[in-house]
Amino acid sequence: MSKQPAPVEKNEYIDVTFEDLTHDGAGVAKVEGYPLFVPQALPGEKAKIKVTKVQKGYGFGRIIDIYEESPDRVAPPCPVYHQCGGCSLQHLSYEGQLKAKEKHVRDVMTRIGKLPDVPVHPVLGMKDPWKYRNKAQVPVGMREGGLIAGFYQKRSHDIINMDRCIIQKEKNDEVIQAVKEICDQYGIQAYDEKKHKGTLRHIMARIGQATEEVMVVLVTMTKDLPNRKQIVQEIIDKVPGVKSIVQNVNSKRTNVILGEETRVLWGRDVIYDNIGDIKFAISAKSFYQVNPEQTEVLYGKALEYAGLSGEETVIDAYCGIGTISLFLAQKAKKVYGVEIVPEAIEDAKANAELNSLQDKVEFAVGKAEEVIPEWYDNGVRADVLVVDPPRKGCDASLLETIIKMKPKKVVYVSCDPATLARDLRILEDGGYHTLEVQPVDMFPQTGHVECVSQLVLKEEAGIR
Ligand code: SAH
Repeated sequence: MSKQPAPVEKNEYIDVTFEDLTHDGAGVAKVEGYPLFVPQALPGEKAKIKVTKVQKGYGFGRIIDIYEESPDRVAPPCPVYHQCGGCSLQHLSYEGQLKAKEKHVRDVMTRIGKLPDVPVHPVLGMKDPWKYRNKAQVPVGMREGGLIAGFYQKRSHDIINMDRCIIQKEKNDEVIQAVKEICDQYGIQAYDEKKHKGTLRHIMARIGQATEEVMVVLVTMTKDLPNRKQIVQEIIDKVPGVKSIVQNVNSKRTNVILGEETRVLWGRDVIYDNIGDIKFAISAKSFYQVNPEQTEVLYGKALEYAGLSGEETVIDAYCGIGTISLFLAQKAKKVYGVEIVPEAIEDAKANAELNSLQDKVEFAVGKAEEVIPEWYDNGVRADVLVVDPPRKGCDASLLETIIKMKPKKVVYVSCDPATLARDLRILEDGGYHTLEVQPVDMFPQTGHVECVSQLVLKEEAGIR
């Protein structure tokens, strides 16, 4: 970045033209090369802005007046869009969102991955990009002596009461509403963050898309839940499809939603869902993709890229509850899965049994970057290796092991295009060639984009 002082001052009003969009939905305008990030501005728009913050290499601003609107601008349908921190792209048409996400992936492939020629396909989007989330977790508060539940106002912990979120499955909204009313009726007090007192912190609801089974989780500060029996009975009576009511105790001062201890108040400790032909048991604490329709698209692509004939040994790194592992096990000789959360591996093992695939899979708890080198030392050689790491991407030592192990194919599933591009560059330098990148829109109305990419070993594909 230049050492020149910033060409704008805080609180200054200026006219700008927006050139670009960041992944989190801010418009980017440049003043003498100095970038300004402005929420809810779109590329091509001309506007008056107020400079709100000036830093060394870049600054921030707020829209005052838009002189020329983008043809892609739409009225955000959610009435609380401007207060809520959940979505960032509702003011952009869905087609515009898909184009912006494709461009973002292409840009990082060139800038970070030094892969200007890698084919990046158009984003696979949803027909109806609303009401897709299968999991809701809402903070609970008090107003005028009664319970409210909704979301935190942007950059604060003030709760706004809300009965509907339009990216949630409607059923989820109904469950949250019903549980809120029941708890209110029985005089449950909301947890007060400042005083560290009260009972109910969050209500969580998760729905199995294919099975319509419902799990309700009451996250409480205290082990004790007053009127527990009556509350549970009312939930059974009023929430159709409920199969599991769970209490999770979180007595810490923390922003992390779930605590260590979970206990079943009624029914099972899991709900079931299907993706394609595979059935999954999902417990309260396990990671499970939030957009079931698009998960099938994503895993379908991963399976296609793995190109299995039935003879292959596969490693699934960062396997969670074994979702991708079991999807692949249907078409492979053997799948090894590794995951750091012990509860998820318990679920993965149970899921293997549930689908009679236990002879084809082996799951291990641990860090992928530690377990896979051990497997390698014990003579395990994968023909296909799948990775699906969290946002920070793969550990460097795991990439080293992949390069040493030389699986013919690598399928990289990623929820952050920037770390994907970084890791693809390392694999390219280590003898792999990236054939293609397919973005999938798992999170419509937000800036997030998931990608799946296919790599082949150059020597295997005859590429030099
Ligand atoms: N493939 C799964 C889960 C992907 S999310 C699915 O599609 O459902 C990423 C997973 O990586 C999480 O379950 C997380 O617990 C796990 N994880 C994070 N760091 C890890 C590490 N160093 N080694 C193994 N797993 C890790």
